[in-house]
Amino acid sequence: MREITGAEFDNEVLNGGKVVLDFFSTECPPCEALASKFEDLSRLYGSDIKFLKIFRQGNRELAEKLGVKSSPTLLFFNNGQEVSTRLTGGIKKSDIIHNLDSVLPADKVKEIKSLIKPSVSEFDVIILGAGPGGLTAGLYLCQSKINTVLIDIALPGGHVATTHEVSNYPGFIEPQAGYMLSHSMSEQTKLCGTIYKVAVDITRVDLEKKEVIIDEYETVKAKRIIIATGTTPNLTGAPGEKELKGKGISYCATCDAKYYNDKEVIVIGGGNSAVEESEYITRFVNKLTIVHQFDKLTANKQAQDRVFKNPKINILFENEPRAFIKEGDKIVTEVENVKTKERQKLVSDGVFIFIGMKPNIDLFRDKLELDSWGFIKTDEDMRTSVQGVYAVGDVISKKYRQITTAVADGTIAAMAIAKELD
Ligand SMILES: Cc1cc2nc3c(=O)[nH]c(=O)nc-3n(C[C@H](O)[C@H](O)[C@H](O)COP(=O)(O)OP(=O)(O)OC[C@H]3O[C@@H](n4cnc5c(N)ncnc54)[C@H](O)[C@@H]3O)c2cc1C
Repeated sequence: MREITGAEFDNEVLNGGKVVLDFFSTECPPCEALASKFEDLSRLYGSDIKFLKIFRQGNRELAEKLGVKSSPTLLFFNNGQEVSTRLTGGIKKSDIIHNLDSVLPADKVKEIKSLIKPSVSEFDVIILGAGPGGLTAGLYLCQSKINTVLIDIALPGGHVATTHEVSNYPGFIEPQAGYMLSHSMSEQTKLCGTIYKVAVDITRVDLEKKEVIIDEYETVKAKRIIIATGTTPNLTGAPGEKELKGKGISYCATCDAKYYNDKEVIVIGGGNSAVEESEYITRFVNKLTIVHQFDKLTANKQAQDRVFKNPKINILFENEPRAFIKEGDKIVTEVENVKTKERQKLVSDGVFIFIGMKPNIDLFRDKLELDSWGFIKTDEDMRTSVQGVYAVGDVISKKYRQITTAVADGTIAAMAIAKELD
């Protein structure tokens, strides 16, 4: 693996052969997350594919010419032609391998795979999930000099990273951009010395043995596990929702509201998330209709008051979505009045769905005692029903799911573990 400059691009990249080129930046957490994966793969594939890195800020002209807009971005070339899809953001090893394999003959791929040596690493504590709960547990454990690894299928930050603004996290006078708050939390934990393995595929979790296999070949062992995997948005289940996800239906206002400048959208839901995110979306759109199944909103009073005063927001109470249909550039949301069963069609440019969350426990569901909604039951020290396994944050059975409650859980679990391991 070698770093090149823009001046060497034609010679090193376009002059033939197979090349993978990493546009990286400094002070870029996803670039840091990629670095060790890129290095590992260069050792494995390096004699067949050239692995090159280029500093994006130092080679702006080339980056712009190639349309590279974010760091890291991986580009793949075969005989001077760009091939495969570009990879950006929290890049997974499996996605890079997929692209590398696609430019090699099948027997070569087989030969390379036979060279992979499984690895094993050992820690005191594995934390699964790097949202506020996991990051706080990581910080406290690290400060207690407990050897801890944080494993996440995405980049660190959890839901906070995609929340537009957080105004209720203590210690800040002004509302904080969610991504900045999560970035500060993550940097604090990382600078303490906690090891990060992020944007990985989790192949298997064995709670009894305290083993997690990541990216197929890497086994991570520990004495304790903390589950901090949070939640995933619930779906309405209406026909068309899955098909239109990312194509007009969104679950993240911070990510997608900006695409609806001067347009009209529907929001499904009536709790805190729906109401607060609706307010944010009205920074962009001309008109927003909240569709809510009950006859009143369930969000807190302050948020409700703001929404009622917002001239861009209408509320359609006692209606539920029954279908989402794409018609040209528009999304037609068919809604049904829960009392009269009358249906009507609402035409908009996009739909945002905020109707609650389900716990991320698919990899270990069978092993743990759960409440009737599928959230993990814990005791007051965050211990689960499996010996040596703790759970914190939104994934556990509790009444209030907030950043403050997740960080509190993380603190408690870390302190309980520190005492146990002492
Ligand atoms: C739209 C929205 C707005 C919100 N606004 C606020 C607000 O203003 N104030 C407030 O206090 N709270 C707010 N919340 C709630 C708050 O974000 C959560 O309570 C908090 O993030 C929970 O933290 P957590 O660490 O438990 O989980 P999460 O933040 O969900 O983090 C879980 C992490 O686990 C990872 N993960 C998932 N599955 C796995 C797996 N199998 N293995 C490893 N890692 C995995 C995820 O990638 C993620 O990084 C909001 C939530 C939403 C959805």
